[in-house]
Amino acid sequence: MNLEIQELVNKGEMLPLMEEFYTIQGEGYFKGTAAYFVRIGGCDVGCHWCDVKESWNANLHPPTETDKIVANAKKYSDTIVVTGGEPLTWDMTLLTTKLKAEGLQTHIETSGAYKLTGVWDWICLSPKKMKLPTEEVYAEADELKMIIYNKDDFRFAEEQAAKVNKDCILYLQPEWSKRDKVVPEIVDYVMKNPKWKVSLQTHKYLNIP
Ligand code: SF4
Repeated sequence: MNLEIQELVNKGEMLPLMEEFYTIQGEGYFKGTAAYFVRIGGCDVGCHWCDVKESWNANLHPPTETDKIVANAKKYSDTIVVTGGEPLTWDMTLLTTKLKAEGLQTHIETSGAYKLTGVWDWICLSPKKMKLPTEEVYAEADELKMIIYNKDDFRFAEEQAAKVNKDCILYLQPEWSKRDKVVPEIVDYVMKNPKWKVSLQTHKYLNIP
């Protein structure tokens, strides 16, 4: 990436765009809702079970003008889900301001590991042990989505639930490769601790992106 382009990326005027697609939101509160996904490259959180490792290296994804991303997005849906990678690696202010100017709903899927930027109608916070969320994002999160890979993740989920705001909706979601083992544990846990709800990656069952 040359310096001029790097500067535009640093300002959020361009973003490393990995892919964009119109599909059904499979997870969490908006599951079943048609939405346009914008996947931004770049993440150094390093989850060993990450299912989008090809997103990690931002240099592999073309810097793309935010105007172009918005122009594409508005053709497909009123609901735009910005995901990654870790979108908060970058300044989301310009992208979201432009999406809002078009009357679109802005949703983000984030680990919360970096400064919260952007104007969001819905924040889905999915904390990771390796890089904990910032205090600000705990206060702003609309849903907390905890990925359950092993038993210790229930402890971590409770620790994180104690930090979010009181209106935040709490979800436990099986990590896909461990689903056969952890789904019965999650079901049992939610019945004993009904402040939690179960979230499934329904798009994977539907075989859609
Ligand atoms: S935060 Fe998300 S994109 Fe980054 S490594 Fe973890 S699961 Fe993958």
